[in-house]
Amino acid sequence: MFDIIFKNARVLDGTGAPWFRADVAVKDGFIVKVGKVEGEAKQTIDAKEKYLSPGFIDTHSHSDSVLVENPTADSKVMQGVTLEVIGQCGSSAAPRNMGLRKQDDPNEDELPEGTPQWTDMGSYIKVLESQGVSINVAALVGHGTVRRQVMGAERRPATVEEIEKMKNLVRDAMEQGAFGMSTGLVYVPGRFSETGEIIELAKVVAEYGGIYFTHIRNESDRLLEALAEAIEIGNQAKLPVQISHFKAMREPNWHKVPEAIAMVEKAREDGLDITADQYPYIASSTGMSSPLPASAWTGGEGSERLRDPEERKKLLDQLRSRYWDKIVVANLEHPDDQQFIGKSVAEVGEIQGISAEEAALGLLERNRGSVQIVNFAMNEDDVRTIMRLPWVMVGSDGSALNISTATGKPHPRNYGTFVRVLGRYVREYKVLRLEEAVRKMTSLPAMRLGLQDRGILREGMRADLVLFDADTVVDNATYTDPHQYPSGIGYVVVNGMIVVENGEHTGARPGMVLRRRN
Ligand SMILES: [Zn+2]
Repeated sequence: MFDIIFKNARVLDGTGAPWFRADVAVKDGFIVKVGKVEGEAKQTIDAKEKYLSPGFIDTHSHSDSVLVENPTADSKVMQGVTLEVIGQCGSSAAPRNMGLRKQDDPNEDELPEGTPQWTDMGSYIKVLESQGVSINVAALVGHGTVRRQVMGAERRPATVEEIEKMKNLVRDAMEQGAFGMSTGLVYVPGRFSETGEIIELAKVVAEYGGIYFTHIRNESDRLLEALAEAIEIGNQAKLPVQISHFKAMREPNWHKVPEAIAMVEKAREDGLDITADQYPYIASSTGMSSPLPASAWTGGEGSERLRDPEERKKLLDQLRSRYWDKIVVANLEHPDDQQFIGKSVAEVGEIQGISAEEAALGLLERNRGSVQIVNFAMNEDDVRTIMRLPWVMVGSDGSALNISTATGKPHPRNYGTFVRVLGRYVREYKVLRLEEAVRKMTSLPAMRLGLQDRGILREGMRADLVLFDADTVVDNATYTDPHQYPSGIGYVVVNGMIVVENGEHTGARPGMVLRRRN
């Protein structure tokens, strides 16, 4: 007796090979038969005219602490994602020490009993496992998280002793199952690190066969220099490199894309295992980066600059260079500012009768530096050019949200990345063949992670599967109305259990937290 049989599916095996018609049987968490399947199953699903592929792997996810709050990972599994790689852009849930926990949330002492707590990668993984999670997870350790733990948000190079401490934290995380380390070299505190510091830490990651994922130091005016740094880190530390959300930001830099691609391909030719991920949108999303450290907005270091009129003028000058008409407010907390969600910062200025940079500074002040934005800075042709590259995989750069609890107008990629590639870039724009798009979501990222038992639909592999309708699959989430699950995803199976059935989440939590095998 099988657990599930998909009957007469068009099987996309994930390798990029053409689809073929077959039945697929699942038992005890594994794919046990592909072909003509005789026999009974607890559940038989008519898959005629539908495509069955390995579950999608989100190579770039920010679900870290979100998974603790929302273990059903709705906005991801509803797209067919069965595994996400968390701990990206230098920021991971672990490690965190007591001091840092206070820094995160000064009221943490008053948290209700039973609130999940963790200190290191191992205890974070245990929290996820004890709660149960609907999706598989592979975790990276964030360089920024590690650096903050050792030296706070200090704006200076690390000392030899501090680098030693960071190496130990990275080593612990790798011992406890991390797949590698990420950096976010535009963010505080990653931006204060020198290349040598990253190389030293990456060498520890290399000892464990891990990967270096990087949000490079600059994606606009100094894109090529930042890419060169990533390549140098890979070459010096001798480990594979993944460029996160590969792109060129702002129109004057769009022409750099061919050269950026050439640099990566040259590095590959010279023997560096370097790949990239991408989300299929022309807008990015992040916190509204500002010329002041986060602590300044809450009265800490740098806050005197906000009060001094001279310094304030300088801050406004620094903010003046931005593209405020392209930057849209996605989320913030202050009640008076809720009306500005979905508006560009330029529009906010017009409404308030002040300049855009004054509006930006005001938003940052009232919201204690915490303003999420969506930034329309990329070129559609570049998105397509990058998507066609055989070494670029799909990564949402989003989190696993739930429509009933999510707020603001976050980037639609949280809900739509994978289905958008299938519905728009395969079916409508014909940028990719269906088989190639699925390869970028399955076997390519599985190979990147060193997974032997996922990413290909084949007998003996783990049963992570998605059944979709290639004629109707599409993202419904838009910039103005992002909280929408997609259409066309029929079934999603994680480790042999049905998590999405007829387009509805079943509530099942069969996800596993994977550990990198050394
Ligand atoms: Zn990033």
